[in-house]
Amino acid sequence: MHKIIISVKDLKKNYGNFSAVKGISFDVLEGEIFGLLGPNGAGKSTTLEIIETLRDKTSGKVILDNIDLDSDPDKIKKIIGVQLQTSGFYPGLNLTELIKLFGGLYNQPVNVGELLELVNLKDKAKSKYKELSGGQKQRFSIATTLINQPKIIFLDEPTTGLDPQARRNLWDLIKDIRNKGTTVIITTHYMDEAEQLCDRVAIMDEGKIIALDTPDKLIDELVATGFERPKVTKSANLEDVFIHLTGKDFRED
Ligand code: ADP
Ligand code: MG
Repeated sequence: MHKIIISVKDLKKNYGNFSAVKGISFDVLEGEIFGLLGPNGAGKSTTLEIIETLRDKTSGKVILDNIDLDSDPDKIKKIIGVQLQTSGFYPGLNLTELIKLFGGLYNQPVNVGELLELVNLKDKAKSKYKELSGGQKQRFSIATTLINQPKIIFLDEPTTGLDPQARRNLWDLIKDIRNKGTTVIITTHYMDEAEQLCDRVAIMDEGKIIALDTPDKLIDELVATGFERPKVTKSANLEDVFIHLTGKDFRED
């Protein structure tokens, strides 16, 4: 079966007196898309950034691919892909130059054409980052997480603010990346997205994990309590209308 690639045990994070993460434990399996869901302030980004070695934890144990975060954070950095803050994309450079620059930082040879092809930006190779649409920017930023050929990538709300077409396209890209063998951890506010994309989800609230399972099991459990959704009176919704009318293709290119 799938092996555990991330193990988090009793992770805590305090900011001063405030306890943002209150002792959470979970495992992520190799090759899955794992969703961290929860309202604003739940502690999702804090948790991700600790695992990414970008933030110190207060206590707890984090192990990635058998590497202990406490003893070898540099080794962890080499096997993960992290979305860079968009402010890190030098505005004067084009996409090819940016990827080469990051490849240099990672000390990795990188096939720029192949990478841009994967995220469907090959025809933008000579465009500057600031000239891209929102969806294109997100796809480029995901491309940069793949430069060091990581085992695990972390995506913190990658689809927030995107239009329906761009969101769907990003889902396909994320599934592609996973199908090539990369483990994906993603946070999102969109439950339809989590249901479509994630093999398992952890629901966080106020620094705690309050549920963790496959979307299907979580839904079945709720239904088993007698919960019933108000009857659906129409077999489509407004998003269906929008996609039906405007199609699934991009408009941005
Ligand atoms: P989420 O990503 O789920 O919205 P965050 O991890 O960003 O949640 O934040 C969790 C809580 O910790 C929030 O209440 C937030 O205000 C607080 N917090 C986050 N970063 C800091 C910080 N650097 N200093 C103090 N409080 C912080
Ligand atoms: Mg966040």
